[in-house]
Amino acid sequence: MSNVRLALAAAAFAALVLPARAEPVAATPIPKKIERTVGKLQAQAASSDQALDLVKDLVTNVGPRQAATEAEARARQWAVDRLTTLGFKNVRVEPFTMTAWRRVKDEVVILTPTPMKLGARALGYSASGKAEAEIVRFTSVAELKAAPDSAVRDKIVFIDERMERTPTGAGYAAAGIKRRECGPATALKGGLACLIRTVGTTERFVNTGMMSRGGLMGALPAAAISNEESDALAALLAKGPVRARVDIQTETISDAPSGNVIAELPGREKPDEIVLLGAHLDSWDITPGAQDDGAGVGVIMAAGKLIEQLPRNPKRTIRLVLFGAEEQGLLGAQAYAKAHAADLPKHVLAFEPDSGAGAVRAFSTKFPAEKLGYGAAMRKAIGETDGDNTARGSSDVSVLAGAGVPVVDILVDMSAYFDIHHTVQDTPDRIVPENLRQQTSAYATIAYIAAESGWVFK
Ligand SMILES: [Zn+2]
Repeated sequence: MSNVRLALAAAAFAALVLPARAEPVAATPIPKKIERTVGKLQAQAASSDQALDLVKDLVTNVGPRQAATEAEARARQWAVDRLTTLGFKNVRVEPFTMTAWRRVKDEVVILTPTPMKLGARALGYSASGKAEAEIVRFTSVAELKAAPDSAVRDKIVFIDERMERTPTGAGYAAAGIKRRECGPATALKGGLACLIRTVGTTERFVNTGMMSRGGLMGALPAAAISNEESDALAALLAKGPVRARVDIQTETISDAPSGNVIAELPGREKPDEIVLLGAHLDSWDITPGAQDDGAGVGVIMAAGKLIEQLPRNPKRTIRLVLFGAEEQGLLGAQAYAKAHAADLPKHVLAFEPDSGAGAVRAFSTKFPAEKLGYGAAMRKAIGETDGDNTARGSSDVSVLAGAGVPVVDILVDMSAYFDIHHTVQDTPDRIVPENLRQQTSAYATIAYIAAESGWVFK
């Protein structure tokens, strides 16, 4: 074997046993002055519970605040009042209208063999309807879709699939499929109503959430039932036929008012360049929404306040956007992207906390390869080592990412989030104060670096 062939063989062997691994990108040095200010911001964040106090304030004074309701309007007024008091500038509401949905009645009763009323909750945008029929159980939407129409026609479908608990929240994406597709798949096969095992990891409480909007998607009455009651129903079905009554009444209201609340720390040198921190003000009707997304609201307001207290504003504008109607399909984010289409190219960076009040665990970017040094610097600045370049932008901010705005994700531990998400249990007492201090510190750090450094992320 020639030396060349030997070398090639050795290289091929090395490639086989040592898969090509990208070298970690070196962090771009952060200017000393910025680093010092970041140190001060982080020290203050570590000793302040302002984010949690704001969550308690929102939950106590406003409560559940479903999109396009009087309660959501009170949440906007709460935000305008607090942001003004905290010293933010250009505080305003940008209104938009939407088709609102209201829960009027959600009743699911097992009739035979064992009469029992279940604590069911209609899914968002469920149609109104009554059905009294036999229940047919499937373990997944795929199994429902593969079933013959005759197995589903004139029956109530029950999708009995348990959601997986994971730190990344990956189980939610999988579980969301049954919430979105159970209705349309059941309707196509001539079924009467659809019940799903709750999209959540708690045993007793039911999670609501979007089914889908309009058309065939909302054609059926659809509801979720708790894990505990799903177990009971599955046990009954294992013994023989089960008949149930589903009575769900809802209403939709067209052109109902919602809105986004905006507040700023105007940039001292480049006020037209915007670093956007988002969160959503609305919650589902059945939950106080302390973590979804009261925590996000508290974190970005507290992070912004820390920067407001500095002797001078950063070079670029820091803009807080408290979106309306996130839960009902990112409608506030869509309204914002439309209203600000002309200045979106001036949005330097956008990010949003909307994954609950877990501890920070990673930092991801979505930057071009030659800008990854900035991402590495930011990751280091918040004391994280994990993360990659596949950020998509949390909820509302994903809409801005789709319009070309650079985004980052400050990722948090979501292991316990789906115990409370979209349920009556989403209360402030379940928030670990240290986690919100940590999130506030990370948001203040990234916002300040992005607004003061002049770095460009696209
Ligand atoms: Zn949310």
